[in-house]
Amino acid sequence: MNQRTKALLDKDKRHLWHPFTQMQDWLANDQLIIEKGDGAYLWDTEGKKYIDGCSSLWVTVHGHNNKNLNQAIKKQLDRVAHSTLLGLGNLPAIELAEQLIKIAPKGLSKVFYSDSGSTAVEIAIKIAFQYWQQKDGEPRRSVSGGPHKTKFITLTNAYHGDTIGSVSVGGINLFHKIYKPLLFKSIKVTPGDIIELEKVLKARHREIAAMIVEPLVQAAAGMLMMPKGYLKAVRRLCSKYGVLLIVDEVATGFGRTGKMFACEHEGVSPDLMCVAKGITGGYLPLAATLTTDRIYQAFLGRFEENKTFFHGHTYTGNPLACAAALASLKLFQQNKVLANVNRNAALLAKELPGFFQLEHVGDIRQCGTMVGIELSEDREAKRAYSSKIRMGHRVILEARKRGAIIRPLGDVIVLMPPQSIAQKELKELLAITYTSIKAATEK
Ligand SMILES: *Cc1c(COP(=O)(O)O)cnc(C)c1O
Repeated sequence: MNQRTKALLDKDKRHLWHPFTQMQDWLANDQLIIEKGDGAYLWDTEGKKYIDGCSSLWVTVHGHNNKNLNQAIKKQLDRVAHSTLLGLGNLPAIELAEQLIKIAPKGLSKVFYSDSGSTAVEIAIKIAFQYWQQKDGEPRRSVSGGPHKTKFITLTNAYHGDTIGSVSVGGINLFHKIYKPLLFKSIKVTPGDIIELEKVLKARHREIAAMIVEPLVQAAAGMLMMPKGYLKAVRRLCSKYGVLLIVDEVATGFGRTGKMFACEHEGVSPDLMCVAKGITGGYLPLAATLTTDRIYQAFLGRFEENKTFFHGHTYTGNPLACAAALASLKLFQQNKVLANVNRNAALLAKELPGFFQLEHVGDIRQCGTMVGIELSEDREAKRAYSSKIRMGHRVILEARKRGAIIRPLGDVIVLMPPQSIAQKELKELLAITYTSIKAATEK
């Protein structure tokens, strides 16, 4: 390790608290410090090159150090870096809102900005709640409506972010259990089980404001796939029982599944849609909650009627982030990004079954270029590794030696390369992943 890396790491360990990281482990081990990126690759302060197999936590779309994105941000920077959306407009925020509505599932017509997936979900929850509190002026739907609708249906193993509201609709015990006394209660149903869902809706729709789902893939839960047709059935049942549908496209949005949004695979239009992660091409923090005119209308009124949505983060609609997002959407067209994702998805579908040659690969799940390779101690007996062994973690350390950055979810090895990745680079990522799993599990 060179002197500069040593000094940086020393400072890091003295002052930094890393997210989702047991700092005792961090302190006890050597760590990588990333210095630059280009395309699908990252370089650390030792000059070592790595393929970015997790899109820098599921955000990078067109690769790192992309000329067009760099240029768009620099151009905006020379005009104004930030101006508030509270009572004022700004150019990139306006243009981006129009573009987002153009590509969003039909029916969505309004954009509310924020800055992370968690806030996008928080906002969707608050809008859905407030909507039912103040929709009295509208004709009542026959099934249900009104201020008693305050609860949320959510799926077991859901992940919607880390703020208190988004954790309240989440269901990952390892992350969420300790906060239970702080959370509002949500109604949990099993993903894929339409009969159970209808039972709950039938009995309790009068008290339910909305249902929230990650479409097609429960990503943070370990890349769990939903049965085909489930999302469509959820939409049908929510409509039937007068419950709003919130779709959390934070992970699946912007092409990861092979369509711009995962909803499109089942022709579903939600009442609220949350986007974040890939929205700026992975450059800057930005998120948006999209909604319909029907919902928006319920917030209109004279000021003293108190129907205003009193919510807004300071950096809401930041012009630099919006300019990056606009440039990213342009690149989707110019570079035919979705076609590349589908080519890569086909390559993955062809290559991934080969991983079953490894004794400790228990399951492989894929949607577009979102991949989960689940390790198991005994595949036939379906026995997982003891969590103390940290097999997933061991695999990613092996991958680093071989030049790939990936991050596991427990013992599920996640691959989520940038949408722009070339086939040759993807093959390299697969080869490194294969040998790393072999090295870690056959030791
Ligand atoms: C990552 C993620 C979030 C949270 O986004 P942050 O930007 O980390 O707050 C919410 N929902 C889903 C589906 C996610 O994958």
